Amino acid sequence: QDSTTQDTTPPHRDTILIEGARANNLKDVCLRIPKERIVVFTGVSGSGKSSIVFDTVAVESQRQLGETLSWFARDRLPKHERPAADVIDHLTPAVVVDQRPIGGNSRSTVGTITDILAVLRVLFSRCGQPAAGEASAFSFNDPQGMCTGCDGLGQVVGVDLDAFLDTSRSLNEGAVLFEPFKVGSWHWQLYAESGLFDPDKPLRDYTEAEWDLLLHGKGFRVPRRNRTGETGSNPYEGLVERFERLYLKRDLDALPGTARQAARRVVTERHCPDCHGARLNAAALACRIAGRNIAELCALEVSDLIAALTAFAGTGDPVGAPIAAAAIDRLRRLEAIGLPYLSLDRPTSTLSGGEAQRLKVVRHLGSSLTGLTYIFDEPSTGMHPRDVGRLNGLLRRLRDKGNTVLVVEHDPDVIANADHVIDMGPGAGARGGRVVFEGPVDRLRASGTLTGRRLRRPATVKPHFRTPTGRLTVTGARLNNLKDVTVDFPTGVLTAVTGVAGSGKSTLVSQVFAVRHPEAIVVDQSPIGASRRSTPATYIGVMDPLRRLFAKAGGADPALFSHNSKGACPGCDGHGVIVTDLAFMDPVTTTCRTCRGSRYRPEALAHTLRGRTIVDVLAMTAREALDLFTEEPLVTRLRALDEVGLGYLALGQPLGSLSGGERQRVKLAHQLHRTGQVYVLDEPTTGLHMADVDTLVALLDRLVDAGNTVIVIEHDLDVVRRADWVIDLGPDGGKHGGEIVFTGTPAALLEATGSITAAHLRKAVS
Ligand code: ADP
Ligand code: ADP
Ligand code: ZN
Ligand code: ZN
Repeated sequence: QDSTTQDTTPPHRDTILIEGARANNLKDVCLRIPKERIVVFTGVSGSGKSSIVFDTVAVESQRQLGETLSWFARDRLPKHERPAADVIDHLTPAVVVDQRPIGGNSRSTVGTITDILAVLRVLFSRCGQPAAGEASAFSFNDPQGMCTGCDGLGQVVGVDLDAFLDTSRSLNEGAVLFEPFKVGSWHWQLYAESGLFDPDKPLRDYTEAEWDLLLHGKGFRVPRRNRTGETGSNPYEGLVERFERLYLKRDLDALPGTARQAARRVVTERHCPDCHGARLNAAALACRIAGRNIAELCALEVSDLIAALTAFAGTGDPVGAPIAAAAIDRLRRLEAIGLPYLSLDRPTSTLSGGEAQRLKVVRHLGSSLTGLTYIFDEPSTGMHPRDVGRLNGLLRRLRDKGNTVLVVEHDPDVIANADHVIDMGPGAGARGGRVVFEGPVDRLRASGTLTGRRLRRPATVKPHFRTPTGRLTVTGARLNNLKDVTVDFPTGVLTAVTGVAGSGKSTLVSQVFAVRHPEAIVVDQSPIGASRRSTPATYIGVMDPLRRLFAKAGGADPALFSHNSKGACPGCDGHGVIVTDLAFMDPVTTTCRTCRGSRYRPEALAHTLRGRTIVDVLAMTAREALDLFTEEPLVTRLRALDEVGLGYLALGQPLGSLSGGERQRVKLAHQLHRTGQVYVLDEPTTGLHMADVDTLVALLDRLVDAGNTVIVIEHDLDVVRRADWVIDLGPDGGKHGGEIVFTGTPAALLEATGSITAAHLRKAVS
């Protein structure tokens, strides 16, 4: 090979080169992204930030990495399609740190996924007294260490008697609510016709002995009639014993669907009676360090665990001190990223998206790899302005280790931390997809882009606050870290609930307030529980009117224009894509060859309305469709999407491709034009540019002016300063939080002492 033709010193090795990128709405974007820098991508929501960072850079990096694997491994990995771009070069391996929940099962805890638990196990195996064995003797995932009562899960499932029985009824009246044991069933006969009980006596009138016999009796036989009237006898078995043997001792998931659902309704999880939730067996729990067993250490909040281990290391144990130091080093990273209130035994399934993302960061900080590209999706989510300062420090550490850090972010403090900003715009969807600014932050601030202007604009607390029409009270709340909280939520106004991460906001609002006042409508970011075929059009109800218009114009059956019914492409059943499930991997999705992704059968596409087929219309954004249609209720519903700031969404875009914030706003669009409601929103600014936040606040104001109550959990000071009322929790996170530190108007908050939120608000409006 002629070495002179090889490009040994490509120019700009120090930048990632992108030319002609066209993913989603990108308009032939050309970019150089500096390496080993913190690069923040800004722009209104839908402008194309994710299309560059995730759909172009991350996808190509992962695809190229896949190419380098042996054919054996490659054959078993999902195939990544090449992103739509002419050139993508000088990439480094990409690590995506997103807010998807941390995978894993009920065995996954903060301790296991950070590997800190593994260090503690080594510490116990070397230094614990009395000695219990090797490190696996302290693992609840290992037969040597696990509690046999619960197989190391810490929880056991048991019968929920309240759901299982109605004690106001007799056996003949159907006291047993569990379907498979209903009146007349084979199981029911065992009790009602045993002669042991009066089948017409309500269960609540049973004596203690009868009650015990009904639930737990065993070890004798009772007479039984069979179908032909002959009598025989059967071994007796109490209701609870029988249910446990037939349903709980087996894998519930292996039961047929109806039996599984019936069983699910009558079981509850509770702490294992053997290990009290500690997951370990008696030998492991008897072993102690500094007076505590491993389960007790794991139940401590991170900051307290650091103190306990520091005290132990201070005793100068020559074997234990270095191991304790290694654990402390990792625990300090958890503290530094704003999670000092977590405990190692916390199941990862109970963490919020923001907490999960921060845990993932901690894992990467511990890695000694360099030369990677880290990609973050709005890492400030769920973070108080105080926590954001810490996050910035962590991003700098990742960079200083020789990594490239790409961040999609709206938070002014994270933007200020950037070495380089790439601002996308000017608008969203078809009106975006271009780079409108590249350069350092101070030049962005001086620029004329939407982001630049917004960063310059002075912030003020609003001058007038609405007068509440009444109040909804929560008394004596003690869930999680709440310390006997009693607080009024004013009605008819916009209330912001604030406080640092872990102070108790979600607990108070979502788990206490919304439960005690079930009339409240929680508009959250969870997936919309509909099928893969759902789109904004189906969700907000514009499909029906559209189908009727098409049918009228073409003299056809309206069902022909539905990709959920008659119009569905036979190749993909109306999904537009074919999903292949792989045993151990994420499923692989490919575009349907029959309809090329349009989801419709050819007959449907033979009809047009105002020159467009149904597929053309579904490819339009809500805003474009508003120019084409004047019919009601189409217009009102399309406008609702535009009013929540989603006018850029294509009507036929799968709901599954929306971000959490977008999902929340689609749900909100569905709720507009109602009155007298109480709405609860958890961080509605997620994914929103500062300019989008203006639209959102205007929308919340309209909801309140229409006679509704709106309560938001929010860190964005741009929302807090425009609320009518603030409920601030604190003073800090975890057990140092859980109290109300302030209630009042934002103007009064500016004067408040002892509130971390107040200090940051003062800074923001100065
Ligand atoms: P941002 O990250 O700036 O919010 P995105 O890059 O996610 O913006 O989106 C840019 C445009 O591409 C938007 O109009 C969005 O609706 C569209 N888009 C994003 N993902 C998909 C997809 N999977 N299918 C179709 N359109 C998409
Ligand atoms: P915030 O919403 O202000 O970030 P949370 O209400 O989520 O705070 O948490 C308050 C406290 O309750 C924290 O110490 C947190 O670790 C704890 N907590 C929250 N959810 C759970 C849960 N499901 N199990 C155990 N502890 C929890
Ligand atoms: Zn147990
Ligand atoms: Zn198809």
